[in-house]
Amino acid sequence: MFKKIIDALTGKSHDDTPPGGSPSAPKSPGLTSGGKPSIHPSVDEGFKPGNDSFGGGILTCHCSSDPVKVKVAAQTAHNHACGCSKCWKPEGARFAVIAVVSRDAVGVEANENKLEIVDKSAAIQRHACKACGVHMFGRIEDTNHPFHGLDFVHTELSDEAGWSEPQFAAFVSSIIETGENPDNMSAIRDRLRELGMPPHDVLAPGLMDAISTHKAKQSGALPS
Ligand SMILES: [Zn+2]
Ligand SMILES: [Zn+2]
Repeated sequence: MFKKIIDALTGKSHDDTPPGGSPSAPKSPGLTSGGKPSIHPSVDEGFKPGNDSFGGGILTCHCSSDPVKVKVAAQTAHNHACGCSKCWKPEGARFAVIAVVSRDAVGVEANENKLEIVDKSAAIQRHACKACGVHMFGRIEDTNHPFHGLDFVHTELSDEAGWSEPQFAAFVSSIIETGENPDNMSAIRDRLRELGMPPHDVLAPGLMDAISTHKAKQSGALPS
């Protein structure tokens, strides 16, 4: 009995049919040609460092006709792999790769009528193509939000080279929520470190500090 409780707490189960029905089978490990856990197609074979003088480009959705085009007229920052269940990722990818850029630099160039907000109640309003499902940009409308003024974008949707490279991985443990086998986590974290993307289970320390500083200034704990 105790063993059962401990197994339940640690997520292990030795019952073939646990009460509440069978869980869906863990997703396949998804290995690269080199036998490492795959992270995302744009990083699995390594990636080029960003170019400091890069000035932006055009993001295009996956529609073969009348694609949505979004111009991002600046270099991005804080590019990272994200394991949350909300960010868009290409089919089969374990992580999304997502960066931020000033919202002033983001504008829809073509087929804006195909965009819709995925979840209007979410802090980040993800504007997605209704036809192909690709998220074109995520925008924060709450002016009190620590990241208000920044849009979230997937630079893999652009043909241009020079975008800021992914520098860390966020919400890593969350990939289990979308079906990752917990037994794979150690190898996945090792692979992220190997790629130069230190894994974090929320955001990287600099961004967590920025959120807390914002909150402290709002509450008066720090001078604004
Ligand atoms: Zn589309
Ligand atoms: Zn995310």
